[in-house]
Amino acid sequence: MKFNELDQLRERLDDVNLQLLELVNLRAAIVKQIGQIKNKQGMNRFDPVRERQMLDQLIKFNNGPFENSTIEHIFKEIFKAGLELIEDDDRKELLVSRKRKPENTVIDINGELIGEGKVHFVMGPCAVETYEQVKEVAQAVKSKGIKLFRGGAFKPRTSPYDFQGLGIEGLQILRQVANEFDLAVVSEIVNPAHIEEALEYVDVIQIGARNMQNFELLKAAGEVNKPVLLKRGLSATISEFINAAEYIISRGNGNIILCERGIRTYETATRNTLDISAVPILKKETHLPVMVDVTHSTGRRDLLIPTARAAIAIGADGVMAEVHPDPAVALSDSLQQMDIPTFNHFIDEMSNFAATIHSYE
Ligand code: PEP
Ligand code: MN
Repeated sequence: MKFNELDQLRERLDDVNLQLLELVNLRAAIVKQIGQIKNKQGMNRFDPVRERQMLDQLIKFNNGPFENSTIEHIFKEIFKAGLELIEDDDRKELLVSRKRKPENTVIDINGELIGEGKVHFVMGPCAVETYEQVKEVAQAVKSKGIKLFRGGAFKPRTSPYDFQGLGIEGLQILRQVANEFDLAVVSEIVNPAHIEEALEYVDVIQIGARNMQNFELLKAAGEVNKPVLLKRGLSATISEFINAAEYIISRGNGNIILCERGIRTYETATRNTLDISAVPILKKETHLPVMVDVTHSTGRRDLLIPTARAAIAIGADGVMAEVHPDPAVALSDSLQQMDIPTFNHFIDEMSNFAATIHSYE
């Protein structure tokens, strides 16, 4: 008898579920019609006043057993689903998303095509210190056939007492040396007001990890016609990283290279934790090229080769690392910059590795 009663109640529940199903879909059909009318009249789809009225009415007629707050919660979800139904698909997908643009974005930096399948190296000192120092590294970089030359003129340092970079003078040194060796300059800009001025000196504007959510800087970089290398923030999720890139593209500049540079975790063996799986995730979710900075992610010279191999193997479009003629006396990141013989060895190892990978293809 008891069993029968349970069965009967379950039957009634199934019945109510089906009625609810019919009703929520009926509601959705009406919402769609409203959406069409609003579309024609150019009206905003979300109307908070109207939503409040509907909730107030429901609460007025609520006789329980559900609490008013529960009713509000359930109906807000239904309202939200209705709103999503009438939002056009274009507005839902980000401009950087592969759903919006299935093909890879290929960025032309003085003839180097980033994102078309080959691995590119971005090498150079952490900071511009002197003309001679930059020139020595540029010579080594050039002799390995590398075109993308990095160097920091504006250094975002943890301590205000540490070397802050040479500023515009540093950019001038980079440009001069890059012209002598036919290299492209990648350099970090930290202030939106410097973007315009920097255009004269740099081929790629770098936005550093500490500025990934400096929205005014992102907007300023989005308004110029220069490729941007955007680094992942120290504590940024992949979704926040993608949204930072969206800030740039939404202002018109779609030439963006994403750069995974390690994130802060509880691990102390490395300076940051290289989130290697971010590379295929970013490549799947967005159409942008993705690079890996092995210097700042590991903070360890002995890990540069293995992590760079991992980056190449997992599909990165490029690898960034730092090189200094005499790292022991470098004004920044002295622990992890490579000296020139180490750099030469690093690049030879990368060529061997690339050849090994291709031999399996
Ligand atoms: C840099 O590349 O010079 C740098 C400061 O790196 P990050 O912003 O990733 O710390
Ligand atoms: Mn550095």
